[in-house]
Amino acid sequence: MKNIVSEQARVYLPVVDSDQVFPVGRVYCVGRNYAEHAREMGDDPDRDPPFFFAKDASCVVPAALSQTTNIAYPMASTQFEYEVELVVALGKGGKNLTLEQAAEAVLGYAVGLDMTRRDLQGQAKKKGRPWEVGKSFDESAPVGPVFLKTDTLTKHLADANIGLKVNDELKQKSRISNLTWSIEEVICKLSDVFELRAGDLIMTGTPENVGPVLVGDEMLAWVEHLGDIRIKVTD
Ligand code: MN
Repeated sequence: MKNIVSEQARVYLPVVDSDQVFPVGRVYCVGRNYAEHAREMGDDPDRDPPFFFAKDASCVVPAALSQTTNIAYPMASTQFEYEVELVVALGKGGKNLTLEQAAEAVLGYAVGLDMTRRDLQGQAKKKGRPWEVGKSFDESAPVGPVFLKTDTLTKHLADANIGLKVNDELKQKSRISNLTWSIEEVICKLSDVFELRAGDLIMTGTPENVGPVLVGDEMLAWVEHLGDIRIKVTD
């Protein structure tokens, strides 16, 4: 059978110290997974647990470590905001996973940005509408290369620092140990509502002090042990 339109490109992430690549399947995201960020968004972290949303896989922009990657300021928004996040790459899927199976499902980790059209997200929230317009748009998910899981890396990541600078000014700074739901808990809970697949990415949520960027700004985002990515906003 012949395609009636040309096929859309799949996104691949490089794998550190490997000649293999990671083909991106679905991209699941966690909202309000750091208590301080939940508070700054006007929520009560004790009353409102984290929750899930998704971005289209086509939103992912592979970002090489320590090199500048350009993303365009998005259409239809005047409030384009950064959220630095630990990203988990799944090597196995399944549904209703136990915490142990969730840990086994992890292939590796990366640093990523959940870029957000905050004005559109705010309007959607107010009206009880879906978040896609605020979250799932072109180039909204720059992600660094995948670092394959080892016991040592997993142990170090549990209390790694995570942060973001804009034009060399520190904006976000926290630790992975501040996650409300741990990596395994996120996978476990996600697998209760979706059957996960190898190739899925999970963006595990952002710490506090999210904020806007403008054309010309350069973000430096890192998770300790996973390197850093530099993302420049162009027009
Ligand atoms: Mn986020």
